[in-house]
Amino acid sequence: MQTRDDVQPATAVRLEAVEKIYGKGDNEVAALKKLSMSFGTGTFTAVMGPSGSGKSTFLHCAAGLDQPTSGSVTVGGTDLAQLDEVQLTKLRRDRIGFIFQSFNLLPALTVLQNIMLPLKLAGKRPNKSQILMVVNRVGLAERINHLPGELSGGQQQRVAIARALVTKPAVVFADEPTGALDTRTAGAVLTLLRESVNSIGQTLVMVTHDPVAASYADRVVFLADGQFAGELHRPTADAVAARMTRLGAWDDESYETTTVSGGLH
Ligand code: ADP
Repeated sequence: MQTRDDVQPATAVRLEAVEKIYGKGDNEVAALKKLSMSFGTGTFTAVMGPSGSGKSTFLHCAAGLDQPTSGSVTVGGTDLAQLDEVQLTKLRRDRIGFIFQSFNLLPALTVLQNIMLPLKLAGKRPNKSQILMVVNRVGLAERINHLPGELSGGQQQRVAIARALVTKPAVVFADEPTGALDTRTAGAVLTLLRESVNSIGQTLVMVTHDPVAASYADRVVFLADGQFAGELHRPTADAVAARMTRLGAWDDESYETTTVSGGLH
């Protein structure tokens, strides 16, 4: 398997003709229909689509949390299908960072312990200057001995971002990372994610339904009915919202309260 000291491949994540079928016979649902997509190293991509379009399935397959029915997924140059369960677990731990809507921090561990956890689990001796750099990057130097419960939502998400970055993963997958945050806090978190791409060349793939969040990305790819449904480069929130409207995304009532207008660029 490739190590992070090797030259980074130009493509961090590649999906080729990925098909995911749930159920059998009459209950069969094709959640992804031969989806092919690449994510360049050091790029920030938002993945959007109406409810049921396959975003979660895409994320699970791309991150090695679920196996495609057919097709291939390559992360950091490694074809996931070639790995056994133990190797896959190791790849997820060492080469993939995760950021969730609900932060998923361990409540009994301090900020510092949460951030260092992926290194500990990998049996690596934490490099002090590396940890300090990550802690400073997310602006948490004053809080390292606090427990997550003593922090605001935005601060907790910063801890989760630091934890995702600490292993210098090939890719960070973020699933609605600002879904639980107010608009201002969300903006700060998205700026931080953007900076991780600009300053350290982190590859970032974010599933979101918020056009403003998507406007922080270099590119937005749209899914509809398990298939690629177009993309926007250098997206503005207005252009993203217009595209989502065309895909019928806002027909779903759950989106109504979260639709925001206004662009960043
Ligand atoms: P999204 O995240 O865009 O809402 P999903 O990936 O959750 O879309 O779902 C895509 C399709 O696959 C939907 O039709 C959904 O009902 C179906 N689906 C998702 N997970 C399962 C599952 N575990 N079993 C059966 N069908 C599923």
